[in-house]
Amino acid sequence: MRLENRIALITGAGRGIGRAIAEAYAREGARVAVADLTLEATAETVAAIEQAGGTAIGLAMDVTDERRVDEGVAAVVKQWGRLDIALANAGIQHIDPVHKLAFEDWSRVINVHLHGSFLLTRAALRQMYETGGGTMLYMGSVHSLEASPLKSPYVAAKHGILGLCRAVAKEGAEHGVRSNIICPGFVRTPLVDKQIPEQARELGLSEEEVIRSVMLRNTVDSEFTTVEDVAEVAVHLAAFPSAALTGQSIVVSHGWHMQ
Ligand code: NAD
Repeated sequence: MRLENRIALITGAGRGIGRAIAEAYAREGARVAVADLTLEATAETVAAIEQAGGTAIGLAMDVTDERRVDEGVAAVVKQWGRLDIALANAGIQHIDPVHKLAFEDWSRVINVHLHGSFLLTRAALRQMYETGGGTMLYMGSVHSLEASPLKSPYVAAKHGILGLCRAVAKEGAEHGVRSNIICPGFVRTPLVDKQIPEQARELGLSEEEVIRSVMLRNTVDSEFTTVEDVAEVAVHLAAFPSAALTGQSIVVSHGWHMQ
């Protein structure tokens, strides 16, 4: 097992990509704190991990709430003694062209992704620096590296998270902390399913055309990336044994983006 006895916390792990990573970490021997907006939202992931013989706890942690994030990290340390892996994964999407975008919608997306990633990072580093190190991971996107129309706050936030990841790699090194970011292409989760009809409406296309000619157009094989693909990369990054791999963005996108 690649993560035996490691302690991990994943935000937004009640469903989608975060859930797949939580289950993969538990299969690899980690004890996993499954964080999401409410305790109820974490229940299915925790139950799935326990049914498979793993160890998990649920945490109600809105990543935009400074107190909740600090308390959530403290609860993990109280329960299991330390924190080895923290993954800022919680995310939302909003579809609108810039000139029609309400400041409130801009702020909501930036808050969840960028401010949420900062709050988790700060709380996690305070613990990791005490115990001699750990791994920070971020859920970026191909949109950390390039833009698409209609998603400006998401693209701006994901670029910002890439910067945060790199800053943490520089600062964290002397404390034994590595920091890397995973950049997936399109993955069929509720986040993507919701935006298919929204994009179809904005662009005047059918939903099928949005999938084929917007989402998968630049992939090498017209395939969606899967939650399992992303989870495998997340295991690899968490298990990597040295700072040879730090400050890196790993793109998992069927060739949509090549760096
Ligand atoms: P999803 O909507 O299935 O899951 C997101 C989870 O985050 C949900 O459980 C939700 O409750 C939680 N969440 C939302 N706001 C939160 C908050 N304020 N505090 C705590 N939890 C909150 O989405 P997903 O596709 O699994 O996305 C997970 C991450 O992967 C996001 O950061 C997203 O931007 C990123 N990503 C997704 C894709 C994709 O195609 N699905 C591609 C690239 C990157």
